[in-house]
Amino acid sequence: MDDERIPELKKAGIYLSIPFCRQKCTFCNFASDAYAVSLLNPYLRFLETEVRQWTNLWRQAGIPSFLDTIDADTIYLGGGTPGLLNSEQLTRLLEAVRSAFQIEEEPEITIEASPENATAGQSASWAACGINRVSMGVQSMVPQELRSVGRMHSPETVAQAFSALRNAGLENISADLIAGLPYQTAQSFQNSLQALLDLGPTHFSVYILEVDEDSRLGREILENGSRYRASSVPSEEQVVAFYCAAMELLRQAGFHHYEISNFARRGYESRHNQKYWTGVPYFGFGVEAHSYDGERRWANTDSLSAYLERMQQGQSPIAAFRTLRPQEKLEEHIFLGLRQRQGISLSRLHTEFATDLREIHGRQLHEFSESGWLETSEDILRLTDRGLLFSNEVFAGFLT
Ligand code: SF4
Repeated sequence: MDDERIPELKKAGIYLSIPFCRQKCTFCNFASDAYAVSLLNPYLRFLETEVRQWTNLWRQAGIPSFLDTIDADTIYLGGGTPGLLNSEQLTRLLEAVRSAFQIEEEPEITIEASPENATAGQSASWAACGINRVSMGVQSMVPQELRSVGRMHSPETVAQAFSALRNAGLENISADLIAGLPYQTAQSFQNSLQALLDLGPTHFSVYILEVDEDSRLGREILENGSRYRASSVPSEEQVVAFYCAAMELLRQAGFHHYEISNFARRGYESRHNQKYWTGVPYFGFGVEAHSYDGERRWANTDSLSAYLERMQQGQSPIAAFRTLRPQEKLEEHIFLGLRQRQGISLSRLHTEFATDLREIHGRQLHEFSESGWLETSEDILRLTDRGLLFSNEVFAGFLT
């Protein structure tokens, strides 16, 4: 058994993974898929079981059982497309969470949904079961771009979704947008952003298209192929310009840029996602769900069939578990802290990690400051606007 230290817990976040989608988007690198609908109910039963029997399943995986109870103030239904769940399925799942954990009185409860999920009926049922934040995978407001990556909605569907959500009393709406989709141009990206701004979301997540082996589009781009409209993807320079334009436009529109990809109206920052960047514990359930208790990280299997099989046999779905070494905790603190626009406090690094960054990484600090990627203001070290575009290079520089 690993390190038995008991971490001091702040109110945690609970994450529930629903890896089911109606169709697999070509750019998607998550462990979600258009799985057979017949698997959904069995999956949800096992997910409920995993939530209700968390202590046993963690113990079985070798995770020290230092907790009798978990206090949480956020619940996040992600995936995948949890917006596909009907009212009964959602109610059962949230009941399981409320019975297994101490959920504070006014939790933030987020559901990820595609615009076509947010019908009048679905929106009303989300509000009825306590959901108070909707994260909508819009990605673009241009039909050709949406079709090119396999999205099933249109700009009209997005507008209808906003109105259905508002009618149901759901005002806290976040919109995801991707910079780098096939056929995207500076003008079309700006049009998407403006069309969404006109609908009045409280929050934006702007992601740069990830080009990696884990998505069909990513693989095709890496192989210089043309399937999945890979040859119509804008260049890296163009994508960087789109992202910079988004920063500018969203700032002008009064959004607070609080994390590399995230912009919010004041007071609408995602409480749940901030836990990921500030070292607050979170506990994930379901396929590919990750957990962190302040000292240890663990992750469930990313295969739906393995998850179902393990749960069927009464085995823990946890596939990987490790206790962080002090050096890893320090690096995570730097890396996650710099993702946030507020940056990191050098004196806090000194107090918590007995580390003087200027001493151990003086050369990198100097180089990155000279390049205009990092800035120091009194005690705070943060990425500049330009540094956001080179964040991976900066993070790599602080790894030992
Ligand atoms: S991007 Fe979202 S909707 Fe599309 S396949 Fe991935 S998880 Fe499903």
